[in-house]
Amino acid sequence: MTNQTSSVEDRQARALRSLNRLVEVSLFLNSSLSTEEILTQLMDASAEILHAESASVILMDQNTHELHFVAMPTGSAQAEQLVRIPVPLEGSIAGYIIKENKPIVLDDVSQDPRHYRNTDDQSGFRTRSLLGVPMRIKDRVVGALEAVNKIGDHWESDDQNYLEILASQAAIALEKAELVVQLQKANVELSQLDKLKNDFIAIASHELRTPLGVILGYASFLKDEAQGELGDHADAVLNSALKMRNLIEDMTNLRFLKIRDSELQRDEVSLSGLLQLVRGDIFAMVSANDQTFNIVPPEPDVVIYADRALLLMTLTNIVNNAVKFTPQEGHIQIKVIDRPQEVWICVVDDGIGIPHSELANIFRPFYQVEDHMTRRHGGMGLGLSIAKAVAEAHRGRIWAESAGKDQGATFTLSLPKGWV
Ligand code: ADP
Repeated sequence: MTNQTSSVEDRQARALRSLNRLVEVSLFLNSSLSTEEILTQLMDASAEILHAESASVILMDQNTHELHFVAMPTGSAQAEQLVRIPVPLEGSIAGYIIKENKPIVLDDVSQDPRHYRNTDDQSGFRTRSLLGVPMRIKDRVVGALEAVNKIGDHWESDDQNYLEILASQAAIALEKAELVVQLQKANVELSQLDKLKNDFIAIASHELRTPLGVILGYASFLKDEAQGELGDHADAVLNSALKMRNLIEDMTNLRFLKIRDSELQRDEVSLSGLLQLVRGDIFAMVSANDQTFNIVPPEPDVVIYADRALLLMTLTNIVNNAVKFTPQEGHIQIKVIDRPQEVWICVVDDGIGIPHSELANIFRPFYQVEDHMTRRHGGMGLGLSIAKAVAEAHRGRIWAESAGKDQGATFTLSLPKGWV
């Protein structure tokens, strides 16, 4: 074998090793989401493939346009030992590569006035030769990748190709990692905000409830005792206080809009018992409106496996609506229909009714049939969307029926029987 043949074979073997390493590091860059890991692997692979003593990355802050030199000191393989040193954009080699968006090949760095010695001093490294390429995402330059101190000969033509491939893959990997960090940060901020909102609602509704209890108590007492005009005034106070109580309930119940099956506190619930609790909850409102209210309980009683507190809240809400949207002296009824697989709890009223086109819309959060500015009835438009969430968490359904304006409405909550 001649010397010439063996040197060609050597070159081929080296190229093959480099390509293998390039594939290996590409796979890693594609899968890693840690900036430090990406940088460490990138510099490691760049130095190895280009047969250089070291490699460094200079990253540009996209907002401030400040450059930061990131390097792995010789002999260190630990990501946490990476050094980061600020580099001027003007007059430095890295600044040139980034601003001009061009590679640079220097066999003797000491002859180049753009060499920023500070980085050598701080990283304890002496730069003799350098090959640097821009790191780009499409046309945007995000930094530079530099291989430093070629071992043995001069930089070779393939070196630049290899470094450019590594730089473009790393740029995308770094951007991806940065986006993940931002996303995680935004997620944490969002959950903090959400907690703040929930705490605020919980505290505000609790603080509002105490004085409201006093108002409700005295207004009921006055309504019972007072006659004539004073009695009418007491009625008005009681009505307004009851509306306010419903608003506070809606605020408190906002968190149930996202209730899931796994969060339910299921227990054996007797429907007859539950309906008596509903009666207790809405009694004051019904009598303030002189409406008739009756319950047709299931015969025999039906027991379901459900979240008692949430079902009570849901049914109370539906009956509250029936009371609210039914004129004085109107009729409201709850009846239970026991079916083979499910039980239907129907709330029937002879109130203002619902146009056919709105029957599905009213289950959307904050949706109200009447325009918000001109509406006569209070409320936040949340009750039915919470009722739907509670029904679905129980694997049940809820729907509304109405023959139209002034024809009354029927709301049916269907819940599966048995141990779902
Ligand atoms: P809110 O009662 O606070 O407005 P809901 O989500 O409970 O919110 O109800 C949404 C809308 O559905 C109401 O604003 C009303 O337009 C309509 N609605 C609900 N129940 C009835 C009912 N029994 N009769 C007529 N309309 C109703």
